[in-house]
Amino acid sequence: MGKLKKGSRCTICKAKGGKEKAVVFLPHHRLALCRDHYIQWFEKRVEKTIKEFRMFSKKDRILVAVSGGKDSLTLWNVLTKLGYEADGFYIDLGIDQYSEDSKNLSLRFSERIGRPLHIISLKDEIAPIPVIDKSTNKPACSACGTAKRYYMNRYAKQLGYNIIATGHNLDDEVAVLFGNTLHWDIKYLKKQYPVLREEGGFIRKVKPLCKITEKESAMYAFFNDIEYIEYECPFSEGASSIEYKEILSKIEEKHPGTKLQFYTNFLKNMYPIIKEHYEKESQINICKICGEPSFSDICGMCRLKKAVEKSGVHN
Ligand SMILES: [Zn+2]
Ligand SMILES: [Zn+2]
Repeated sequence: MGKLKKGSRCTICKAKGGKEKAVVFLPHHRLALCRDHYIQWFEKRVEKTIKEFRMFSKKDRILVAVSGGKDSLTLWNVLTKLGYEADGFYIDLGIDQYSEDSKNLSLRFSERIGRPLHIISLKDEIAPIPVIDKSTNKPACSACGTAKRYYMNRYAKQLGYNIIATGHNLDDEVAVLFGNTLHWDIKYLKKQYPVLREEGGFIRKVKPLCKITEKESAMYAFFNDIEYIEYECPFSEGASSIEYKEILSKIEEKHPGTKLQFYTNFLKNMYPIIKEHYEKESQINICKICGEPSFSDICGMCRLKKAVEKSGVHN
């Protein structure tokens, strides 16, 4: 988001003969907007993305992965306002105050928009993240990712939803894309599309905010008085994706629009090639322990469970 020149007027209001002052300037879209037109612009942009990638329709039942952060709450708000049937799903990770605060904010928001929030607790399912962190030598973020993917998919099926929507924004997607490109990690690049189709027990997963920057999302939350958790999860500290974000933001400052181009040109030019060449590689099995879909004999979650049991670490 760029600097707003003093006295700027809203581009859309001006075109209609109005004089409303602009409160936001979007350099890579060359738009100065007032509050109302910003909200309108934002919601239209999300709807366009949903249609562009044929993510879902009004007939689908959508489960939104809610973390209490600005992106997931913003997404939930937009989908509801656009008339989609979207409910929330929150996983209590058991990370002390962080989980308490984010759960309360999610609950409050669910009441505000009048849509149910399904809550599960990792403590009841396996163990809270701090315990998992102590009992395995994998980084906590990877265990957290495994747990979120697993339970989200499992409960969505149980609860009768056919779409999982996550609040990943453009900055998230670009940082991951950048990392995967630095390592030429084809296995992950192949999955980096805003829609992962349903197959072999996996539900369709979509990222409707993939063309919205982090700042744009924060601005939308601010204008809509959405209260969200502002501090990062204590376990995410030092994650390389955070470093990539900082580097990319420096480039973006000098060359507005770079992030969006990097991402959209990947989807347009590179993704189809990767997809075609590596289509047949991923064989989906059924986990021998829990019966959920998995890319190996035993799924990531069951392996994690075993590691926790073996270590003998308790709450
Ligand atoms: Zn306006
Ligand atoms: Zn399993």
